[in-house]
Amino acid sequence: MASRKGTMTVKLLDLVPQYESIRDEIREAIDGVLSTQQFILGKKVEALEEEIARYCGSRFAVGVASGTDAILLSLMAIGAGHGDEVITTPYTFFSTVSSITRLGATPVFADIDPRTYNIDPGMVAARITPRTRAIIAVHLFGQPADMGPIMDAAGRRDIPVIEDACQSIGALYKGKRAGSIGSIGCLSFFPSKNLGGYGDGGMVVTDNEGLADKVRMMRVHGGRERYYHDVVGINSRLDSIQAAILLVKMRHLEKWHEGRRANAAFYDRELARISGVTIPFVESHNVSVYNQYVIRVQERDALRAFLQENGVGCEVYYPVPLHLQKCFAFLGGKTGDNSESEAAARETLAIPVFPELTIAQRDYVVSSIRAFQERRA
Ligand SMILES: *Cc1c(COP(=O)(O)O)cnc(C)c1O
Repeated sequence: MASRKGTMTVKLLDLVPQYESIRDEIREAIDGVLSTQQFILGKKVEALEEEIARYCGSRFAVGVASGTDAILLSLMAIGAGHGDEVITTPYTFFSTVSSITRLGATPVFADIDPRTYNIDPGMVAARITPRTRAIIAVHLFGQPADMGPIMDAAGRRDIPVIEDACQSIGALYKGKRAGSIGSIGCLSFFPSKNLGGYGDGGMVVTDNEGLADKVRMMRVHGGRERYYHDVVGINSRLDSIQAAILLVKMRHLEKWHEGRRANAAFYDRELARISGVTIPFVESHNVSVYNQYVIRVQERDALRAFLQENGVGCEVYYPVPLHLQKCFAFLGGKTGDNSESEAAARETLAIPVFPELTIAQRDYVVSSIRAFQERRA
């Protein structure tokens, strides 16, 4: 197949143009923190917690060191441990599930809805047992999972629902923000997320004062007062510098979500005309923030190689579902257990959707995909 090399390069995610657009605000914010020499938690983190709680429509928010820790601390606050089962999806980022096993609890996988790639509520209900200690719903790629029936199934047994909203800050499910629907929601400020810091960071949001208190205590080694420990916690604090940066970025977040949605709408229109390409499906009751724009094609690996050769950044999220990961072999998962997740892992590909994409770049992404698919047709 002829290469179109040299025409253009489009990264999957290029953070430089965004930084250039806010450089002065960011430098001023970082400088402010440097003047105070207050680096851990502090006023900036408190201000960010207030702002994120308001934005998500939750009563409380607690800043932590990463999205991974937000999930781990949520499970700790709920009290998940040995002998407990936690139902979740195998088609997610690793740490949704590693947080469960780190606490000695057992992940129980429910397969995904093949249209949205989010956990299938019917499967969740079918996996509930007397040992179910929690359910973790993941809002993948920027679109909320179908929380209504998940909450119904959980509510019948009083099972807490954790929302892994690491990819979906700001997304809406029936008018409610991702993270604010279940018992506790987890956010990540990893640089590639829609609200990305300049390093690691994360937050939990919740309406439950007891859970907020526990996470607040657990993030500082399990004590309310320094050197007095009520429980064994961890060190998972958000940096003041990250909070100062994120407060600046909050001012632009909606505009950036809109930019992603505009790019997604363009792709939806253009790619729907190319045979063999399945565009993302977004439920009519959802508003996605498109942390990733993920298409589905039969010859995924060949398309990926072609795009890479032609300067178009793309990535597979995720190539191996978690029930088939080597480190989770002890759980006894095997091929065929979650066939929709396995098919998605073979056939999906994320293409550039970041808000600063230029029109020429978007056009080039589409024409590259078209060039591949037409030669295959
Ligand atoms: C990014 C992500 C995490 C982990 O967040 P970190 O801040 O990188 O620790 C967890 N779950 C999902 C679905 C994610 O996308």
